[in-house]
Amino acid sequence: MNYKIVNIRTTASVDPVDSILIIYTGGTFGMAYDDSGSLAPFNFGRVIDRVPELRGLELKLTVISFPEPRDSSNINYQDWQDMAYIIYENYSQYDGFVILHGTDTMSYSASALSYMLKGLNKPVILTGAQIPIGSIRSDARENLITALEIASAKNGNVPMVNEVCIYFNYFLLRGNRSQKIRSSTFAAFQSQNYPYLAESGIEIEYRQNYMAPHDPSAKLKLVKNFDDNVAILKIFPSINKATVESFFKIKGLRGVILETYGSGNTMNFDWFLKILEGAVKKGIIIYNVSQCSGGEVIQGRYETSKRLDDIGIISGGDITTEAAVSKLMFLLGNEKNEASIKRKLAIPLNGEMDN
Ligand code: ASP
Repeated sequence: MNYKIVNIRTTASVDPVDSILIIYTGGTFGMAYDDSGSLAPFNFGRVIDRVPELRGLELKLTVISFPEPRDSSNINYQDWQDMAYIIYENYSQYDGFVILHGTDTMSYSASALSYMLKGLNKPVILTGAQIPIGSIRSDARENLITALEIASAKNGNVPMVNEVCIYFNYFLLRGNRSQKIRSSTFAAFQSQNYPYLAESGIEIEYRQNYMAPHDPSAKLKLVKNFDDNVAILKIFPSINKATVESFFKIKGLRGVILETYGSGNTMNFDWFLKILEGAVKKGIIIYNVSQCSGGEVIQGRYETSKRLDDIGIISGGDITTEAAVSKLMFLLGNEKNEASIKRKLAIPLNGEMDN
């Protein structure tokens, strides 16, 4: 890939000690209205001009821009691989990493990166904006400047943050626990099943108890394969047999997120359970994730989820759909056999679900 690299000249009197790499992928953050009146991403060189405050930071800042910044609706696993590879290649040269990303799929990317960057011991902070940087009321400036501050924060020589996070609208969230829940207010993200990691007010208050600890012995390893032969089946009252049957006939299908009600319940009609059973027997892996963003799947709590365990469906516990679908693609891409995929789906890979 042909990245554009820009070094930002700051006005710091002495050479700054801490260095941050910003990876610009696109998103509303750097968008402007095109001739037809739609928002489209523009070049990061122009973004820097819009945030003159960056030049006043006591940080060495480098920006790597995707050659074609894009709306995050068009991001796929190849882009996750590019982001992870840039971090991996530049890991020793920077104290932290900030990824500028569209909000629509930011939680998916954060989840994927949390699995790919094994042994991560530095901050990787994703952020973006609801209003483009060029607009007067934009939230982009605050989000970027505080994300940079968090990515460079240290306790002595040790980074405060040692994991992949989303910083947005004054809160730092664990990336693989986050979800975009609002499209029209600044408070776009939440993490229902895991406490926030920091709050930015006059000071940034970190909640160390909830954060991944620094591990001085860890070495970064990049695990990068994905298999996109997965699909999500969201059940609803009256979903019919023909729909479910044809869903499981998708060519090449290897893994399914079954989005169930409440604590993991499905209709227990015979025809439905038989289709699920047949799919599992054929080797399709089914991962049970709740449609509720708070709480967890407990297979067997109700009669309507009791059979799922017997059929061999794996409970996703309190995982989000965003973290689950990227986890399923990641495990299908990297694990050798069905048994190890199933075993790893049931436990946290990197804090995305409770033990
Ligand atoms: N559609 C945009 C994107 O995800 C929305 C945003 O950035 O807020 O790229």
